[in-house]
Formats: sequence, C-alpha cells, structure tokens
Amino acid sequence: PTTAVASAAVTVSQYACQRQTTTENNNKIFTDALEVLAEYYEFKEIEGPCLAFRRATSVLKSLPFVVQCLRDLRDLPCLGEHTKAIMEEILEYGRSFEVEQTLSDERYQTLKLFTSVFGVGPKTADKWYRQGLRSFSDVLTEPGIHLNRMQQTGFLHYGDISRAVSKAEARALGSIIDEAVRAITPDAIIALTGGFRRGKEFGHDVDFLVTTPELGRERSLLPDVIDELKKKGFLLYCDYHASTFDMARLPSFSFEAMDHFAKCFLILRLEEGKVEGGLNSSEKDSRGWRAVRVDLVSPPLDRYAYALLGWTGSRRTNEQNKEFLAATTEKDIFAHLGLEYIEPWQRNA
Ligand code: ATP
Ligand code: MN
Ligand code: MN
Repeated sequence: PTTAVASAAVTVSQYACQRQTTTENNNKIFTDALEVLAEYYEFKEIEGPCLAFRRATSVLKSLPFVVQCLRDLRDLPCLGEHTKAIMEEILEYGRSFEVEQTLSDERYQTLKLFTSVFGVGPKTADKWYRQGLRSFSDVLTEPGIHLNRMQQTGFLHYGDISRAVSKAEARALGSIIDEAVRAITPDAIIALTGGFRRGKEFGHDVDFLVTTPELGRERSLLPDVIDELKKKGFLLYCDYHASTFDMARLPSFSFEAMDHFAKCFLILRLEEGKVEGGLNSSEKDSRGWRAVRVDLVSPPLDRYAYALLGWTGSRRTNEQNKEFLAATTEKDIFAHLGLEYIEPWQRNA
C-alpha cells in the first residue's frame, strides 16, 4: 500500500503502452469488481461494455494512489459513466450491488467454471450451459459429449493447472528448458517472457522465447526440443504450431507477424526435488510432482525484439502497438513509434 495521494500533477495516458503499470495494484477493490463485469459481457459476447470495463481496469491499475473519492477520477481517461457509477457504489458501501448480482448469476458462474478448464473457451462453455450442464460431473457423465485431447488433458490435470505457478517453480522450469534447448543447439538464445518477465510473483504458466543465431534453423528447433523433453520424461501434453509466417505475407517486421511464429503450448511434469523450497501445492500430496503449463515461442533471430515485446505482454500493453518497422531491441520499437520506453516490470497494464 502506498501513501501517495491523487494530485493534479498526475497525467495518465489513454494508451496502455504509455502507462507505467507495475504489479502493485493500489485499486484492487475496484479492478476486481470491474473485471467481473468485463467477463460477464465477454461471456455474453457484447464487446462494447467488455472493452470499456477492461480499459477502465487497466487505467486504475496504473495509478500510484488509492482512489478515495470520485474527485480522484476527474482527469483520468477511459472511465465511462457505468464504471464511475460502480466505483461510486463501492466508495460509498464498500461493494457494488450489480457486481454481487453478476457473481450470483447462474450462467456467469457456470461459464466461469467451465472456461477454467484448459481447452474450454466461452463458445464450448456456453454450448454445455445451453445443454443444461452445470458442473464438471454433469459434463463428464453426459452421453454424447465429445472432449478433444486438449480438454481431456485439462480435466485430467485440472487441480495442478489451476494452481498458480511460483517464481521458484518458474526458475526450475527455466533450467529444464535451458538444458533441453542446449542439448539441441548449444548456442541457443533463451529468454523468459510473459508475466514473470514483468516481475509477477505468480503466473498461470511460464513463457519462454527460444531461438538460434542461425537463420532458418529455428524452424526445426521446437520440434527437436519437444522430442528432447519427451525423451527426458517431462512431456505430459504438447500442442505445436509451426510457423505460418510465409503464408501470412506480412511485412517482415510487424506486430501482426507475432501470431505467426512457431510456438507450442505444453504441460510439463515438474519434480518436487527440482524446486527450491518445494512445490506450490495447497494440499499435502505424496506424488512429489505437479503438472505445469509452459509456452514456448521460436521466432527467427531478426524478429527477436518483436517476439520478446509481444510475448512479454501484457496483452493490454501490446494493444496499441501496430506498426511496421525494423528493430533489434525493444527500445528501438518504442523509439520508432515515438513512444517513451517502458520497462518490462512497468507493462502490467
Ligand atoms: P500469466 O502470468 O497469467 O501467465 P501472462 O501475461 O504471462 O500472464 P500469457 O497468457 O501467458 O499471460 O501471455 C503472455 C503474452 O504472450 C501475452 O502478452 C500475449 O501477448 C502473448 N501470447 C499469448 N498467447 C499467444 C498466442 N497464441 N499468440 C500470440 N501471442 C500470444
Ligand atoms: Mn504467462
Ligand atoms: Mn502463456
């Protein structure tokens, strides 16, 4: 908690990529509430209010002070009437009636539950809801429900995957990835990205960028690394996507190109003994290992800076960065866009 107070001197950019947002959130009471509403509209597929609540949440996360009265919101961008009304309720009563109603809404609760399974998106969750299913056991015992391989794995490892990944676990996975990649090519370049690069203490997964100085060699890198992880007994699940860069016919240096790099979404087996201080497990379990989600992305080296910026996130920080240019560092990209450089730990928008 900070003692800073709202001041007229604080000007907040309307662009997430120009706001310095650390992992410290002074306004969690408001952002938790607004995120519920954003998700409610996302489930309803009503884009406008969903985006409005997400933008407002992002602005509030960047504030160096705790909002204590409506006056504190005067000069802030992206806060609509609906958002302000919710915040006013919370300021006055400590809670919002609309948010509480949403939290007890049966459809919201069910879609929230179903989408918490790896491989289940809002579309599938809504289909199951409309079929009258309300719980995991409903889904798993309903005749005629076909689960794809991803969803089967999601249910199989549900407890482990929904448990947050700690920094110590991320470090241990870093060593495993490092070893597997270097077994393939000793001069590999490996970087931690995602939430952990932004300084988060916990994550829902661990994200890495891996590549090699030899242009073109990155094409076979991920399949080789995956084989290596399998050989060593770490691989529980793998969803590999080869690069679609050529097909996309995109300018070489662009943010759009980011989605086209080779990548894989993995579930790895992490042994207790590899983690300093032990596993992040809620109940005492005797297995001595847990399943963890790991993402790997493998861009060609000349797009390293874009891939690093893109896969560091947050998603909201990336949102406004859509330009075409050449860059070798993240600083270059900000500079080309005429933007002030924002450090990774300030990108938690
Ligand atoms: P958490 O700690 O919950 O994992 P995170 O910020 O690391 O938070 P991720 O979902 O792991 O969230 O995503 C990290 C970054 O990788 C995001 O900012 C996003 O831009 C990028 N990313 C994730 N999935 C994809 C994808 N399929 N294609 C392109 N980029 C992606
Ligand atoms: Mn992540
Ligand atoms: Mn990820």
